[in-house]
Amino acid sequence: MAAKQSFRDAWLNKEDFQPWLSRIEDNPSRAFCKICKREVRAELTAIKRHKTTKMHSVYEASEQQEVQQERIPVHHGNYAANGVAVATILFACFIAEHTYHLPPQII
Ligand SMILES: [Zn+2]
Repeated sequence: MAAKQSFRDAWLNKEDFQPWLSRIEDNPSRAFCKICKREVRAELTAIKRHKTTKMHSVYEASEQQEVQQERIPVHHGNYAANGVAVATILFACFIAEHTYHLPPQII
């Protein structure tokens, strides 16, 4: 069995992770993404992988979009279409994440 991983504070100083990575006080084996509001396994590979997921980039992009919206007016039609696309991607991610979290014997 693999050694149990736990959260390292050094990760919080990494430029790649700093804006969104957070620790979970009562669970050192999990990390938390502040952008997606989701837990990630406290393993460097899992955290790096989370950063590259569509879900994370969609949330990251939507955060940036909110900032831009203050300056650039967004057409209502475009906004609705964009919402459907985001929902579709999130649904796909939801399935992927849940499959990923299943214990190996079920897969
Ligand atoms: Zn995320």
